[in-house]
Amino acid sequence: MPAPVALDKTVILAKLPQMADKSRKDSDPPIGTGTRLVSAGRRAEWTGPVVNPPVWRASTHLYEDMTAHREGPRHNEDGRFFYGRRGAPTQWALAEALTQLEPGAAGTVLYPSGVAAIAGALLAVLRPGDVLMMADNAYDPSRAMGRGLLADFGIETRFFDPRDLSAFEASCCERTRAVLLECPGSLTMEMCDVPGLARAARKRGIVSLLDNTWASSLGFPALARGVDIVVSALTKHVGGHSDLMMGAASAGPKFYPVLRKRAQNLGIVVSPDDASLALRGLRTLQVRLDRETSSALEVSEFLAGRSEVALVMCPMLPGSPGHHIWTRDFTGGCGLFSFVFRGGTAQSRDAFIDALELFGIGYSWGGFESLAVPVDPAPLRSTMQWPPEGLARKDRFGVRLSIGLEDPADLIRDIEQALNRMTAE
Ligand SMILES: *Cc1c(COP(=O)(O)O)cnc(C)c1O
Repeated sequence: MPAPVALDKTVILAKLPQMADKSRKDSDPPIGTGTRLVSAGRRAEWTGPVVNPPVWRASTHLYEDMTAHREGPRHNEDGRFFYGRRGAPTQWALAEALTQLEPGAAGTVLYPSGVAAIAGALLAVLRPGDVLMMADNAYDPSRAMGRGLLADFGIETRFFDPRDLSAFEASCCERTRAVLLECPGSLTMEMCDVPGLARAARKRGIVSLLDNTWASSLGFPALARGVDIVVSALTKHVGGHSDLMMGAASAGPKFYPVLRKRAQNLGIVVSPDDASLALRGLRTLQVRLDRETSSALEVSEFLAGRSEVALVMCPMLPGSPGHHIWTRDFTGGCGLFSFVFRGGTAQSRDAFIDALELFGIGYSWGGFESLAVPVDPAPLRSTMQWPPEGLARKDRFGVRLSIGLEDPADLIRDIEQALNRMTAE
């Protein structure tokens, strides 16, 4: 019989280090993102002799004796066996990997979905009577959270146009406790000055949160750019294969303990099977994002040249709204962008989507396969106008594309035939 894997208990019970490369000297050459993605979270005491941490399915953690049992709950440290709700090495490895990939992070909390991460982070920092400033182009379920969950707990949500920094500063009041940003905005992809807004918030003692699902820490290292808490739907890019739901929130030493405490109160835990899938996705994140970005750029250039298209909303595309902010603040993009038809009707737009052969119709994005959904943002905006400035009133039927890993030439051919069929009808 092969010898059982010897897991060094003294190491397992050790506290997690802050960053794996803390011992590195400033004179050492920088470690590239691809290299970091490959090594992040892979501790020998968690993986044993195999490459990936095994799936530790566990509710009960057994203690060695009564002394260990008495000690267990007293410490409540990350990376210490206690009970299944605090996770086991599979979840710890994912959380640690995400922390290592987010410059400035002291820790990461995992949630069962992106929405749960947003709710968990907001409930960690807001109290009854507080005001939350929310970017008007935030993800719709975040908006619904403001009007529903948060309102029920006596928290007021005010929607604002995140492109207007001075309007944000003017509308902050004594009760303003937090601001939730998203860049680019959901569906309509507007860019905002995240470092400027975060700085203005911090000056007033307002906690800044960013939903950074679009860029991830690879394209926009949010904490390093002044954001207090960064939230992400791992369901999208990190999973990358459309087969899992998960979210994460990371923060520095001031807010990580606050997030962690609230998540423990709420009984938040993710399954080790999903954590294992997310870790697998994480290893290829950079190559997938690079490929998606270059393909999305090709597709968006094609669309920008078509007479049926009034506006392409793709931050990576020169000439697209907010492109200068993307070039200034971001080091990467992804495959998600939208465009608006010149005139037309909801029916002609739907006919275009139906005519697409390589794009699935469905929510979510960031998977290996391309997707399309209709975009009708007017009912989802309180202060930002739709259609946006510069477009005629009739130019309002949009489509959001999530560009996957197919060959961009095939995607463009598919879009071309769908446009031709739409206009022929
Ligand atoms: C999908 C999404 C979420 C929510 O993630 P789920 O895992 O689906 O709950 C949050 N923010 C943005 C920007 C998203 O696109």
